[in-house]
Amino acid sequence: MKVLKFGGTSVGSAQRMREVADLITGSDRKIVVLSAMSGTTNSLVEIANYLYKKNYDGANEVINRLERGYLNTVAELFKKEEFKHKGLELVKSHFDYVKSFTKDVFTVFEEKSVLAQGELLTTALFNFYLQENGHDSVLLPALDFMRTNKNNEPDTVYIRENLERIMSDFEGTHLFITQGYICRNAFGEVDNLQRGGSDYTASLVGASLEVEEIQIWTDIDGMHNNDPRFVENTTSIAEISFDEAAELAYFGAKILHPTSVLPAKLANVPVKVLNTMDPEAVGTTISSSQHKNRITAVAAKDGITAIKIKSGRMLLAFGFLRKVFEIFESYKTPIDMITTSEVGVSVTIDNDRHLDEILDDLRKFSTVEVDYDQVIVCVVGDLVAENKGYANRIFEALKEIPIRMISYGGSEHNISLLVDANDKKDALQALSAKLF
Ligand code: ADP
Ligand code: ASP
Ligand code: MG
Repeated sequence: MKVLKFGGTSVGSAQRMREVADLITGSDRKIVVLSAMSGTTNSLVEIANYLYKKNYDGANEVINRLERGYLNTVAELFKKEEFKHKGLELVKSHFDYVKSFTKDVFTVFEEKSVLAQGELLTTALFNFYLQENGHDSVLLPALDFMRTNKNNEPDTVYIRENLERIMSDFEGTHLFITQGYICRNAFGEVDNLQRGGSDYTASLVGASLEVEEIQIWTDIDGMHNNDPRFVENTTSIAEISFDEAAELAYFGAKILHPTSVLPAKLANVPVKVLNTMDPEAVGTTISSSQHKNRITAVAAKDGITAIKIKSGRMLLAFGFLRKVFEIFESYKTPIDMITTSEVGVSVTIDNDRHLDEILDDLRKFSTVEVDYDQVIVCVVGDLVAENKGYANRIFEALKEIPIRMISYGGSEHNISLLVDANDKKDALQALSAKLF
């Protein structure tokens, strides 16, 4: 069995849905994970923001625009009257549901339900299309098996048990369709796996069923060696290890959700990244094999805050680091980069929700300086200490760019550098020019 995930652009129009259908209707057993049609989740976020502000005109305008888009898709996608009718009713019911929130209370619970409509609608429409064309496909409701625990981590036991239980009713079925991104949380409420989370769904499903392969179908021919949104002439990486791919995803390579590589790695299920617009292209294979002696790729993670914490005493006092880390832990705020010196420590965070409280607590025993709008630039490759000269090439590339922090040695696969957001593009371009 295989898991195939198609992102928003890959199912972004009636034509694209037909192309996806052609890619998945072979005879081997598969689970197809779909994102919402491109632009849908952004629109739903916009609607939710209007609803929070009780701006019902604003909300209705976006709702109507989005609904028209789906109605056009229905008109184009289906041939038979029966399915055109089913499609229209489906679209209407989902949008009636969203419109119901323009009269009522709107909290984070309603928001999560609104955000879930994109994947629910897209998968149901796509499944109708398969049925219209005579395919024996089954829609698996992600809300019945995809679940997170109290720490907001996937509940892998629940996912496996329930997925197996649901699928056992369809022994003879070869084609399953399910929603990416959406889940229930530990309280059973509708929730999601964060933006871009459909990749994570695919990886969790593939890992829990220990499938032969997970395929991530997107709008580019695999993972590239730098961010194609900022650098020209990037190239696709044919093979990359789980560890390298995980670091790139975590440090900003938008092509994969930040934590989507880990489940596949733990279950040792290879992941292929493939291009829906060019299905014959080789793409990228992510597996346990590690290429020796190479710098593989560069990525950048935005929205970083750097905090320099100097010990109140002259030298780094005994127990100082523990006190610092306990504060971040108490606010459930993960630290990305750390550098230490004899007088203090610099750390970076990407979640600044509790920044003010963290700073107040730190100031009780240290002096603190904060830099906002920073970017972690991450160079990934076989960077074990024996491979001489790589650090030199990286710093040579960045000689014109002010570097705020450097982290090397924490992993064998990555050198991370902190730069100001204004220098991000130059840093990425300079690295590509020197390294590839
Ligand atoms: P999907 O909707 O299929 O999930 P995404 O937009 O989330 O697609 O991810 C694909 C996009 O990721 C590409 O179009 C590209 O612009 C961007 N991207 C960023 N970094 C990389 C990279 N290293 N390799 C390939 N694509 C990247
Ligand atoms: N539709 C969701 C989003 O736009 C999930 C995904 O695309 O992976 O974030
Ligand atoms: Mg994505």
